[in-house]
Amino acid sequence: MTGQWLELADGVFARRYQELDLTVGLVCGTDRALVIDTRGDAVQGAELAAAVRELTSLPLAVAITHAHFDHCFGTSAFVSPTTPIYAYQGCRDTLRATAEAQRAEWSEYYRARGEPAVAEALGTAEIVSPDTEVTAPLGVELGGRRVTLLHPGLGHTDHDLAVHVPDARVVFAGDLVEHGAPPDFGDALPLEWPAAVEALLALDVTTLVPGHGDPMSRAEASEQHRELTAIAELYRSVATGDLDVEAAVAASPYPEDTTRTALRVR
Ligand SMILES: [Zn+2]
Repeated sequence: MTGQWLELADGVFARRYQELDLTVGLVCGTDRALVIDTRGDAVQGAELAAAVRELTSLPLAVAITHAHFDHCFGTSAFVSPTTPIYAYQGCRDTLRATAEAQRAEWSEYYRARGEPAVAEALGTAEIVSPDTEVTAPLGVELGGRRVTLLHPGLGHTDHDLAVHVPDARVVFAGDLVEHGAPPDFGDALPLEWPAAVEALLALDVTTLVPGHGDPMSRAEASEQHRELTAIAELYRSVATGDLDVEAAVAASPYPEDTTRTALRVR
C-alpha cells in the first residue's frame, strides 16, 4: 500500500506504487500544488493525500489524466470547496458511464487475487466527477511556476489529459505512455495513438512520466512511439484485409493478448 516519492526537479515529484506499478504526480508552486491522479479507491486516495501533506501544506488542485479507476477512484480524499478537479472533456461522461462496470470488473480481479479488502474498498469508492472541464490547453498558475493541462490527442482513451511543467521540462502523460509493460488498448484508438505521443515528444521535455512504470527518457518514449506506429500499421492492414490477424500477431512488437486487444475491428 505504501508508495515512494521520486523528485524529478525542484518541487516536481512522481510517486511510485507496487500496486499496478502505478505512478502519480505532484507539482508544487509557491501558492498551490497540483496532484496528478488520485489512485484507485478511497483508502488509496487517503494514503496519497497524507503523503502529499508530508511534502506540502499548500492549497491543492487535482488533475485526472483519464477515467480509468486506478487513476481517479481515490479523488474523494481530495474534495474540498477550494480544490478544483481538472479533467479533459469527455472524462466526466466516461466516468459516469463506466464506473460501475469498472468497479465490478476490478473488484472481481482483486477478489480472485485473494485481496478482498482492496475489492471491498473499490466496491464502495465514492465516484467524484471532475468539476473543471479542460477543452483547450489551459495554463494553471501555481505561484512561481505555471503548468499547462493539455489533450495531446486520441490515444489510450478519447480524453487523455497531460500535464506539462515547462520549467522542469517534464510532462505527466497518464497512460499515453507506459514503462515496463505494453500499453493498454482496452479503450484505445490505435490509429490515432502515435500522433498523441508525437505531440508529447514535440514539447520541450526531457522526462515523460507514465501512468505505470518509472519516468521515461525521450529515447524510451520514442521507442514506444515506434511500437505504437507499428501497431497502427498492423491495425490498418488487418482492417483493409491486407493482413490476417495471425500474421499481424506474429509481426507485432507486443504480446499476443495485447495485440489482439489492439487489433479489434471496430
Ligand atoms: Zn488507463
